[in-house]
Amino acid sequence: MKARDGMYIGGQWRPARGPDTIAVVNPADEQVIAHVPAGTALDVDDAVRAAREALPGWAATPPAERAARIAALRDVLVARADEIAETVTAELGAPLQLSQTVHAGVPVLVAGSYAELAASYSFEEKTGNSTVLLEPVGVVGAITPWNYPLHQVVAKVAPALAAGCTVVLKPAEDTPLTAQLFAEAVDEAGLPAGVFNLVTGLGPVAGQALAAHEDVDLVSFTGSTAVGRQIGATAGGAVKRVALELGGKSANVILPSADLAKAVNVGIANVMSNSGQTCSAWTRMLVHKDQYDEAVALARAAVAKYVPGERIGPLVSARQQQRVRGYIEKGVAEGARLVAGGPEAPRETGYYVSPTVFADVTPEMTIAQEEIFGPVVSLLKYEDEDDALRIANGTVYGLAGAVWAADEAEAVAFARRMDTGQVDINGGRFNPLAPFGGYKQSGVGRELGQHGLSEYLQTKSLQF
Ligand code: NAD
Repeated sequence: MKARDGMYIGGQWRPARGPDTIAVVNPADEQVIAHVPAGTALDVDDAVRAAREALPGWAATPPAERAARIAALRDVLVARADEIAETVTAELGAPLQLSQTVHAGVPVLVAGSYAELAASYSFEEKTGNSTVLLEPVGVVGAITPWNYPLHQVVAKVAPALAAGCTVVLKPAEDTPLTAQLFAEAVDEAGLPAGVFNLVTGLGPVAGQALAAHEDVDLVSFTGSTAVGRQIGATAGGAVKRVALELGGKSANVILPSADLAKAVNVGIANVMSNSGQTCSAWTRMLVHKDQYDEAVALARAAVAKYVPGERIGPLVSARQQQRVRGYIEKGVAEGARLVAGGPEAPRETGYYVSPTVFADVTPEMTIAQEEIFGPVVSLLKYEDEDDALRIANGTVYGLAGAVWAADEAEAVAFARRMDTGQVDINGGRFNPLAPFGGYKQSGVGRELGQHGLSEYLQTKSLQF
């Protein structure tokens, strides 16, 4: 696989300051496919300096021109979609079709939405005798995970650029090749030097240096709660803005009036997609006690279609595979009933985990509380609507969810009572303009659409 041996800083590929590299592994066959430089605090410093230097010019660029550059970036992502999909498949392990439709496709929609927003957004408001200017926050440090390697990058970089901010990106160490492709796309799109900069490297080294850098104005992080907590504390100490997109344990609430077969099938597909490595996955399926046995049978049949190596890929790394298998063992040990799958690896090579369904899961079990980040669904039984709501809201997370009912209004009434940032009603489709982000410990701030743009703006009021 093609890899760059430098960092993209100040509009150029420059040699890294240190000699260390990171091996990139294809999780489907465990082969090393490339090496990328492991950045240090010195590389981060260079990148932040370049972003700072580029800031006044980019912030003063008329929004229509910023919009044109973001549109050009979207066009490059379209032109290079095949290469992007192949790269995501190689380093993440996603089946090629998923890489094409979701991993390469969604970033095009998101970049396109910000090209439009940058052109149409009013960066000035009037209230009483004041004019409020919406100005860029400044230099953004973006730290992204591996699960949606390009989407997570575009969901931060596109709104930051639309707002007039400049960016330093530290992508996940497991998926740096997609991030390098993105940097090439930025270059090809003709963004001015220093507006976007890339430093590959390890989280505790390059990530930490970026999060703690005193010349970064806003840190936008997506990843684990443990690291997010640390980044939030560092940013708080330095009095700088922070956006955190953390984990989830979302509930798929199937009300008794719903089309049970459809709700169960879509619910299983939702978790199996991307091998369960989706922060918004509906990993808890809540079913009324009278329909529970039927739902378990439907779930067992639905999950059988996900043959590892065909319809479902491996997990990203040996570490994640171990982690998820550990959770499955814990589910068994705590008394949940295995309906499909289990802790044994389904293939000898590759970091695969068996698509797994647990029944008789109770709300206090570890597998009903903690984010597993693998192809594992827990079916929980509820007595009545209030019980379902208690279970749905009974975790520290609140990122996404689903409600199914015969009547849309019935589902909406339930969704209004859920403590969560997004709810799909009867299988409602992904909307790249809808704000995405967490209640409770799922995070701070929102991504996507207009709400995502305002994360990167600060106000200045002029009184007349
Ligand atoms: P992680 O939080 O360790 O990594 C996310 C990003 O943060 C990566 O770019 C990483 O290099 C960086 N990072 C790591 N330590 C850092 C530090 N001390 N300072 C600054 N940056 C740092 O996540 P992970 O280990 O890759 O995954 C672990 C778990 O996190 C998963 O199993 C899952 O539960 C959760 N996760 C959630 C999401 C999400 O979208 N919400 C994405 C990935 C992982």
